[in-house]
Parts: sequence; structure tokens; C-alpha cells
Amino acid sequence: MQTFAFSRANDIQQAIQAGAHASTAQQGAEVRYVAGGTTLIDLMKLDVERPSHVIDINHLPLNQVETTPDGRLKIGALVRNADLATLPEVQRNYAVLSQALLAGASGQLRNMATTGGNLLQRTRCVYFRDTHTACNKREPGSGCPAIDGYNRNLAILGVSEHCIATNPSDMNVALMALEASIVIHGSKGERQVPINDFFLLPGDTPQRETVMEPGDLITYVLLPKPQQGARSHYLKLRDRASYEFALASAAVLVTLQGGNIATARVAMGGIATRPWRSQEAEQALTGQAPSQALFDKAAHALLADAKPQRGNAFKQELARRCLVQALTEATA
Ligand SMILES: Cc1cc2nc3c(=O)[nH]c(=O)nc-3n(C[C@H](O)[C@H](O)[C@H](O)COP(=O)(O)OP(=O)(O)OC[C@H]3O[C@@H](n4cnc5c(N)ncnc54)[C@H](O)[C@@H]3O)c2cc1C
Ligand code: SF4
Repeated sequence: MQTFAFSRANDIQQAIQAGAHASTAQQGAEVRYVAGGTTLIDLMKLDVERPSHVIDINHLPLNQVETTPDGRLKIGALVRNADLATLPEVQRNYAVLSQALLAGASGQLRNMATTGGNLLQRTRCVYFRDTHTACNKREPGSGCPAIDGYNRNLAILGVSEHCIATNPSDMNVALMALEASIVIHGSKGERQVPINDFFLLPGDTPQRETVMEPGDLITYVLLPKPQQGARSHYLKLRDRASYEFALASAAVLVTLQGGNIATARVAMGGIATRPWRSQEAEQALTGQAPSQALFDKAAHALLADAKPQRGNAFKQELARRCLVQALTEATA
């Protein structure tokens, strides 16, 4: 681990100024905010993350959840995953988020992990975490050994010839289905980014995973007003029942009218380079009566552009079954 400067921010402006100052004072300096530390500290110990300045944001007033006057839920970036998952309002109105959070990591990790940190957690691709190997995401232009190597847990959707790493988060999949927005504070002020625009495809710049700029601070996640009558389900398939990342997961939200699916939202995890919203699957479902044949058709639409590798081709069938089962649960 390389040496780094450490400071603590007590208010949002101070954090942003410290982030901007550290970036400009030392050209090319990597500044990182630390929240729960469950991703960042691991990666610093592995020498994958090599910040020259770490800013502790745990004292910022961002650990509250409140309902806005127009009925949205405003979640502070420092709200711990365990607290968010067990909040009665979240369990009642955004059950898919609670289920996704509780499916992630372990109790101890969820007690530390924060909303902002979970959004920005990094891939679990083994080559990314091993500095003795090439990796375009860690060292742009060095190559991607995963494409012809060990790729069992990697992506079949949204891939490029430069990177096939999955976004490993459970929470992000639920936030995608809920159409959350991310509130970001930076040196140019505050902006709100719909989650669908927040995550980038790897393309030829896999090192860039989100629209975050150096020194940007996530302050809140906003959830739209709960959808009247919506039924939802989060299903995670993995190698063991807990403390394991998804091989495939599905977050679905549907409303039913007169026995037909009136609206559908489908987001998938574990199979794509970013939390994956499938409008193709949603279109296949909308206006139709729920049935196994219909859910199969939606899964077919989801996977039409899948590009599997030798080690992860099984994910096509796994993802199909995952989506069919999640839709079966949500419409039962
Ligand atoms: C053994 C293990 C198993 C796990 N299993 C799962 C799993 O099954 N499912 C799952 O979804 N996750 C899993 N995780 C990942 C875990 O959910 C994340 O590590 C956690 O959510 C990250 O949150 P944090 O607050 O600890 O982030 P940190 O480690 O503090 O930060 C992560 C990144 O976000 C940045 N950051 C943090 N907060 C902000 C902010 N407000 N603004 C700007 N930048 C910020 C940091 O600079 C850093 O780059 C697992 C982790 C471990 C170690
Ligand atoms: S898949 Fe992405 S993260 Fe993994 S080795 Fe290739 S470039 Fe690196």
C-alpha cells in the first residue's frame, strides 16, 4: 500500500473543497472519499486503488432518510445498507430495495456499507484485483485476460472487446428498477442524474464506470413516489445461499389491471457490465396476461444481444430462469 494523506470533512462544502484542492494541488493526484471502507480499504491493501489523499466523510450530515413534500424518498449517501433495508417505509413501499440489500454481503458488511459506497463498489473480476496481471480497467491499454481466461462470474450483456466485467451490486439493480436518481455535489454545484444515465458501458474506456468527475461527492439517492399497486420481487442466484455475489439476479416491478400486466420494469444484475434495465423485456410483458410462456418471451428479449464467453455461457439459461421465477413471484 502506498502512503497517502488523510483528512476528515465535517461539512459537505469542506469535503468538496478538500477533494478539489487535493486534485489540483498535485496534478493527477487520486482523491478518494472513504465511507464504510469495505471496498476502498480492501482495494488499497491490494494496491489496486492508490489514492494520494483519502477524505473521511463519515461525519457529514448524510445519514438520514426523509420523505420530500412531493412524496419522494431522499436517502442520505451515508445511510448504512442494514439501516436502509430494515426501515419500515422501505420495506412497505420499496420492498424490492430491502430484499436486494438483504441479499448482499453479510450482516457485518451491511452494518458498515453505505448507500453512496455501494453505488460505487468495483467489479469482482479476479484480474482487476490482481496487480500482477494485465487489466484494461485497472491499467488502460494493458489488455483483458478475462475474455480468454477465467470469466465464469463475468458479463454477457453490455460487454466490449476491452472489458467484460460485471457490476457486482445487488442494491444498484433494485435502484435501477425503481428509477432512482443520484444527487451529486461537485465543484460546479449540485446535479441530479437518473440512474440509467449514471453507469457507463465499458466501450473502449472501461476504467470509467460512472459519470462521476474527480472530487464529486454523492450526497443523496432519490426514489420516486411509490407506484400505486406495484408488486415487486428481487431474486438472486449465486453459488451459496449467503455472503456471495450474484451470478444472475432480477429486480422486477409490475402493476396488473384486469388480469393483464399494465406496467413492467425489469432490471438484471450479475450478467451485465452495468446494472441492466431491459426495455425489450418490459415491452414484451406490457399489456399481456401473465404466463410462463410470456415470461420466457420476455427473457428471450432480454438476452437477444447476449455475448457469452466459454466460461459464462451458462448464464444465459440461468438469467432466463431467474427472470421467469422473479416474474412468477411478482405476479402470483
Ligand atoms: C466479502 C464481501 C462480500 C460482499 N458481497 C456483496 C454482495 O453480495 N452484494 C453486494 O451488492 N455487495 C457486496 N459487497 C460489496 C459491499 O456492498 C460494498 O463494499 C459496500 O457497499 C461499499 O460501501 P462502503 O460504504 O463500504 O464504500 P467505501 O469502501 O467507503 O467506498 C467505495 C467507493 O465509493 C467511493 N465513495 C463512497 N462514498 C462516496 C460518496 N458519498 N461520494 C463519492 N464517492 C464515494 C469511495 O471513494 C470508493 O471509491 C461485498 C463486499 C465484501 C468485502
Ligand atoms: S474483464 Fe475488465 S476488469 Fe476484468 S480483466 Fe478484463 S478489463 Fe480487467
